[in-house]
Amino acid sequence: MRLSRYFLPILKETPREAEIVSHQLMLRAGMIRQQAAGIYSFLPLGLKVLNKVCNIIREEQNRSGAVEILMPTIQSADLWRESGRYDAYGKEMLRIADRQERELLFGPTNEEMVTDIFRSSVRSYKDLPLNLYQIQWKFRDEVRPRFGVMRSREFLMKDAYSFDLDVDSATNAYHRMFVAYLRTFHRCGLKAIPMRADTGPIGGNLSHEFIILASTGESEVFCHRDYLDMAVPPADVDFDDAGQLASIVEAWTTPYAATDEMHEEAAWSRVDPASQLSARGIEVGHIFYFGTKYSEAMKAFVTGPDGKDVPVHMGSYGIGPSRLVAAAIEAFHDESGIVWPRAIAPFDVGLINMKPGDADCDAACETLYAQMKQAGIDVLYDDRDQRAGAKFATMDLIGLPTQVIVGPRSAKTGEAEIKDRASGVRETIAMDQIIARVS
Ligand code: ATP
Ligand code: MG
Ligand code: MG
Ligand code: MG
Repeated sequence: MRLSRYFLPILKETPREAEIVSHQLMLRAGMIRQQAAGIYSFLPLGLKVLNKVCNIIREEQNRSGAVEILMPTIQSADLWRESGRYDAYGKEMLRIADRQERELLFGPTNEEMVTDIFRSSVRSYKDLPLNLYQIQWKFRDEVRPRFGVMRSREFLMKDAYSFDLDVDSATNAYHRMFVAYLRTFHRCGLKAIPMRADTGPIGGNLSHEFIILASTGESEVFCHRDYLDMAVPPADVDFDDAGQLASIVEAWTTPYAATDEMHEEAAWSRVDPASQLSARGIEVGHIFYFGTKYSEAMKAFVTGPDGKDVPVHMGSYGIGPSRLVAAAIEAFHDESGIVWPRAIAPFDVGLINMKPGDADCDAACETLYAQMKQAGIDVLYDDRDQRAGAKFATMDLIGLPTQVIVGPRSAKTGEAEIKDRASGVRETIAMDQIIARVS
């Protein structure tokens, strides 16, 4: 992509309304734009990161055996009356009336709707286990929308719903998602720690929140330092091996880790003080097992092997991709801007032409640009007629992992500079080595 033809509305000043660094940097880097309180557009750079996060989530959901669907954002109030949540949900739910005065709502979550889909077509235990997921916008009329897309009113959620015949099988479904989540956050370059959590309005008794430690996090959390360097399950983990999954979950839930609602002083005091980590955290994912709460209320029954009808056991599993983008910036930035983990960076390489109009610079950059595209490297080429200093600042701000810098002098000698954004290390290398180095 040529920057001259892209849409990257960089802000020079830090917007005053932005309190935390990720919100400031997302606005400054032209990733998002606020349209109303807690409602944002994703601009091209922000959308690229969001899509990369969603693709990783999708790959890991699919790997674990979940099946993607897409449900509407608008739901009927009647569905929520069946579960009893229409009145219980309160003011966080955006309630809408259509021209026939029918009561609708913009979905804050989808347990009811997915249960309706399930009960309309699944009758037998033979069709279980089943896990259906979607990546879809949600709306929650948050009391205090703030911190940009970290706590917005309209936000993207990956929500998965599992259906099983009994508790054992449902526990296995929970383990599959638990392991998929460990892999998902790790692949995004993040350390997310599973912590025992409260189940809130979703209900149920087994629940973990996946938390990224950050000083700006809204939750108070307590965990053992061992979590900081625990090994994440590899890509070839066998999702059909219930024993293997159970032992991974066992290992990841043995050291102490709890959010403030679930914190127990007595158990905490038994953790060696040198290993105690009490910090602030950002909730990026949350998984629940809630048994037959919705299936009983909404009559989602299956016929078991003995011919008897039983309510299906369910769990639900959320990740907030839009919040995750902000959380990644909280975790990875410096005074010059964002420092993307490679896996979710909007582009792989930023190519800087220090002096457009200089024949050697232009020729070298055009060649590199063409070669990179050929090699499948996603490159943002700053071909604009601007001061080199401003270009460097923009590239640092948007945080692409690798920069390739071509100036008139290096172009003449057939060289270019490679800068690693994270370490700041710069190296001059021969032009014909560049592609191999950045691939
Ligand atoms: P919070 O405690 O931050 O309000 P929640 O517990 O209400 O979040 P869940 O119902 O567990 O959220 O939803 C699943 C995921 O959706 C969360 O873990 C989070 O990543 C994301 N999420 C929830 N609310 C928001 C929001 N207002 N803005 C952005 N992402 C959100
Ligand atoms: Mg909430
Ligand atoms: Mg929460
Ligand atoms: Mg939650």
